[in-house]
Amino acid sequence: MRDVEPAMMQAWIGHLGATPENLDPAALRRQLSRGTIPDVLAQTARTHPDSTLTIEEATITYADLRARAARAASVLAEHGVVHGERVVISAPTSMAFVVAYLAGLRLGAVMVLTNPGFTTSELNRVVDRCDPVIVLTDDQLARTTSVPVFRMDDLIEATESAAEHPPVGLDSRDVALLAFTSGTTGLPKGVPLTHGQLLASIRSAMLAWRWNSQDILVHALPLFHQHGLSGIHVSLLAGSKAGVLARFDPDRLLETIARTQATVMFAVPSIHQRLVALDREQLAPLRRLRLATSGSAPLSATLARAYFEKVGMMPLERYGLTETGLNVSNNYEGERTVGAVGYPLPGVEVALTDVRGHPVEVGTEGEIVLRGPQVFDGYLDDPAATDAAFWPGQWFRTGDLGRWDDEGLLIISGRLKELVITGGMNVVPTEVERVIEQLPGVREAAVAGLPSERWGEEVATWVVARAGQQVSSEQILAHCLDHLAAYKCPKRVFFLDQLPRNAMGKVTRNQLVPSSRA
Ligand code: AMP
Repeated sequence: MRDVEPAMMQAWIGHLGATPENLDPAALRRQLSRGTIPDVLAQTARTHPDSTLTIEEATITYADLRARAARAASVLAEHGVVHGERVVISAPTSMAFVVAYLAGLRLGAVMVLTNPGFTTSELNRVVDRCDPVIVLTDDQLARTTSVPVFRMDDLIEATESAAEHPPVGLDSRDVALLAFTSGTTGLPKGVPLTHGQLLASIRSAMLAWRWNSQDILVHALPLFHQHGLSGIHVSLLAGSKAGVLARFDPDRLLETIARTQATVMFAVPSIHQRLVALDREQLAPLRRLRLATSGSAPLSATLARAYFEKVGMMPLERYGLTETGLNVSNNYEGERTVGAVGYPLPGVEVALTDVRGHPVEVGTEGEIVLRGPQVFDGYLDDPAATDAAFWPGQWFRTGDLGRWDDEGLLIISGRLKELVITGGMNVVPTEVERVIEQLPGVREAAVAGLPSERWGEEVATWVVARAGQQVSSEQILAHCLDHLAAYKCPKRVFFLDQLPRNAMGKVTRNQLVPSSRA
């Protein structure tokens, strides 16, 4: 990468009301990524001991949360969890989830958060990849894995009588989380994220969004995904209150916002879509929020306008990836431009490049590449994927396409990678295709996203049957449900005589759904 001016600080100097001196880029990056999550929890327990986190019906003060996590750490330590070991959590959102997560981090363990909707074989694939000492599961999930399974309820019960585990010496470069993502193409890849990277990601957004300790956050996003988890991190950093719902229900979300006098809501476009379908009067709680964010998937212009019409303000769109944390955001103050994700966050550099990694002309579409203190260092045990994902200079290739508008706002214009993003969850086509192709009647299958009002995109499959054999949509769907988490299963099945391919023989998924790749 050549000739890229790190202009982002300039853009933010005015917004932050700061002087160039205290926004020295290197100093800012160090500030953003300082410390560890256990340090942050300890500090908040001192500075905001009575502020609270509520998850569903359970409320805990930050002082109690720190103490409970420290006691739960002793229980985990008895089960072999030590600094650097991995712990898989496969459980829905609950207070126990948060306690277990913070307890593991206190010991310096690497937490691996997985979707509780995974089938046992999907969970086992993660276990095989990351070789954890233990898998923590919800009571409801009867899981058989090659490593010991510990029920979250048993952890919480044992925590009651445990002593606090002393802090373990950690620093911001220790890995806190191992997330799994699709990367730019292909199979899910392990993404190690350090304490410093996780903290930098949310701190830069806090600066941009003027977060303060009086804020009250409400969201209904899963905690196993970075987006939902960032709501816990932001609240711990600020000492601000948070209320998290284990699943999204429009009425409950609105009721919780009203009852808790929330000031901020985190959401994904599919949540906004369900909300704006309600009557204007029902949406009164949204009008009292100072900030409603939207991320993890494109916010369509139609939805942004519908939201503005009913609520009187636009959601604040932000852009990020598992590998890179939060990177770009609409301005907090002033007008928001429909269709633009905004400016690079403090500390983040963004550029647009051609296929060789050279900057494209202003106004031209290019691949979005970025770097900053929140960006990961490389995929787990996969130097080839890591090499392919970075240009020299640590510029991470997002696999998303974008261009700058005249105001210097980033517009995301498409996707190089073949992901389907459905309700903010990423589905890798090849994973679903491989499952469908296990059926004896299927010769080959292609999977892609169809535009959907409700989900943004919905998973669809185009199937070629084997000559002389019969296979039905019902069989395909039932087979997928047996092998894949529900959100990955196709909602539509189409039969074709052959799949479209390019000159290299590669299936051209974009020809299956030309309209979804606009
Ligand atoms: P994940 O790693 O699950 O967070 O997914 C990251 C991908 O989600 C990005 O590479 C984008 O394709 C997409 N994405 C996230 N935020 C936005 C946004 N605001 N607009 C468009 N796409 C987004």
